Amino acid sequence: MKALALLSGGLDSTLAIRVVQEQGIEVEAINFTSPFCLCNRGGCHAAAVAARQLGVKLHVEKCGQDYLDLVANPKYGYGRQMNPCLDCRIYKLNRAKKKMEEIGASFLITGEVLDQRPMSQRREALAICERDTGLRGLILRPLSAQHLRPTIPEERGWVDRAKLLALRGRWRKPQIELAKTFGITDYPCPAGGCLLTYEDFALKVRDLLDHGERLTMWSASLLRIGRHLRLPGGGKLVVGRNAAENEHLAKAAREGTILFTSLSSPGPTALAYGVENEGDVLLCAGVVARYADPLPGGVPHEISYRNYGPEKSGVLRALPLPTEKVAEWIIGRTGTEKGRARSASSGKTECRHGRAG
Ligand code: SF4
Repeated sequence: MKALALLSGGLDSTLAIRVVQEQGIEVEAINFTSPFCLCNRGGCHAAAVAARQLGVKLHVEKCGQDYLDLVANPKYGYGRQMNPCLDCRIYKLNRAKKKMEEIGASFLITGEVLDQRPMSQRREALAICERDTGLRGLILRPLSAQHLRPTIPEERGWVDRAKLLALRGRWRKPQIELAKTFGITDYPCPAGGCLLTYEDFALKVRDLLDHGERLTMWSASLLRIGRHLRLPGGGKLVVGRNAAENEHLAKAAREGTILFTSLSSPGPTALAYGVENEGDVLLCAGVVARYADPLPGGVPHEISYRNYGPEKSGVLRALPLPTEKVAEWIIGRTGTEKGRARSASSGKTECRHGRAG
């Protein structure tokens, strides 16, 4: 008897697998990566670490453009931020179902805990997932099984229901205790979720969709880095905050984008797209100058630009734009950048490139 488990690498999915392994069932695991993942721990993929500890074979699957389209337009809507948790679960369960059939597994395992998450782990949400995926009775949730209707694996005696658990709600102490009994000590912090659940990130996604842009792997990868500014003409400017982000932006340049670099003092690389008028190109240069190291005596900065279509490049001379002006265009810097900008304009502090935020 073989089962396929959805493994995020977090404590719940790890425990769900251990509980089923205790019953002598062979388990393989599947993990999904997306541009919104928070799945790396110190450079290690959390699911890979957990799979190794559990001794299970791991299948890693990428969520592609179909997933991004779903995030942009979810059937069941969003949670608190831009997290379409119910649609996301259905998407992943559908793909897990295919993998289950491919590897000859008889049922799926998830680490879901009834009522732990308000959108995707309510009883009705679990039922919707089963209905929409055609997996009714085939999703075993070992951590909450005793609160739920018996599944096919329980009814057929493949799994002993009496040895499954009755966890419920957001209280995590029982999981932590159970982890101790299994000798599991290395697991990521239990916050879970993905970037879509973070207000600051969600504001950037919302802005992108509100401006009629398509969420693609390219645009989603940009959302993860830099300061994002929506310019008066409707274009977008992403400004690097450190060397790694500057490099990422330089690599992301492509047709329809303009790459800006500070020449006269150390400063950020910035990538603009949707910028169609000369005025906004000059504003971009002023923003780059704003985040570059200051020059003595109010000398204008030299900012190089390269337009990737129609091909054109040159050097602009720009004075740093006022902090409060730049702050008006920043998307998603809730309470940090804007707050700092306000303080800076009142002479209390200065926001400079290279600092976090
Ligand atoms: S938190 Fe993110 S990854 Fe998790 S179910 Fe919701 S949308 Fe999907």
